[in-house]
Amino acid sequence: ILIISFGAFWIISLILSYLLTRLTMRPIIKSWKQQSEFVNDAAHELRTPLAIIQGKMEYLLTKPNNTILDEAESISVSLDEVNRLNSLTNSLLELARADSATNKVDFKITKPEFFMSDPIKPFTEIIESQGKHFEIDVNKDVNLKVDRDKIKQLLIILLDNATKYTPKNGTIKISDRADGNKYYITVSDTGVGISDADKPKIFGRFYRVDKSRTKATGGHGLGLSIAQQIVHTHHGKIYIEDNKPQGSKFVVELPIKHKV
Ligand code: ADP
Repeated sequence: ILIISFGAFWIISLILSYLLTRLTMRPIIKSWKQQSEFVNDAAHELRTPLAIIQGKMEYLLTKPNNTILDEAESISVSLDEVNRLNSLTNSLLELARADSATNKVDFKITKPEFFMSDPIKPFTEIIESQGKHFEIDVNKDVNLKVDRDKIKQLLIILLDNATKYTPKNGTIKISDRADGNKYYITVSDTGVGISDADKPKIFGRFYRVDKSRTKATGGHGLGLSIAQQIVHTHHGKIYIEDNKPQGSKFVVELPIKHKV
């Protein structure tokens, strides 16, 4: 009996310690895996523009007698790739900063008018110059506790996407609404839209619905990850709604601060 109970005890403690290790290690293993996937994706994104620049530079070295005018195409392609690297590095830094414990957020009680007009103004010009329509319906007078710069950045990401993925003659709209304890910002467009299958994926890092289409629009698939992080820092939500008959609709939900 002693041997059997000792054996049973030994087996049970073995199973328990195995389960405990699995449970406690799972988040760590998951985050290692996520981190290594992230580094892998980031390296891949960095490699493509670097390879193009390297190729162009090596080619230019073989033509020492050519003028800048002769090689304008190679120089301009290299410059485009440098700009791409620049924006990618900024997005990566932004994500790393938002992830880190030292992420500084400057929360202040503020009204929407103090973060809406700065992003809307430049987009009015950009959207109209591209032959698209811009409808603005933002006028809510509520108190929110936000980091204005971060919310401006969030609006720029959503407006930039709406503009990028909407063809000529399309309409981009920004509106706001207050309901009980919540303040909602909606950015909608009549562009290419997002399929139901892609909706849960597009907030993922480096996720792009159509890589060839996005190559033309210059995205890295990081904008919406940054947008989502900003919204979470503000204890809010971001989600996609159907925009019938066509296009996309992004909704940002932020808590209203009633007592100031
Ligand atoms: P990107 O820099 O590629 O735009 P994002 O993270 O901002 O990266 O967006 C991820 C993907 O979601 C985009 O590549 C695009 O396929 C899709 N997407 C985002 N916004 C829209 C939109 N308004 N209309 C259609 N597709 C969109």
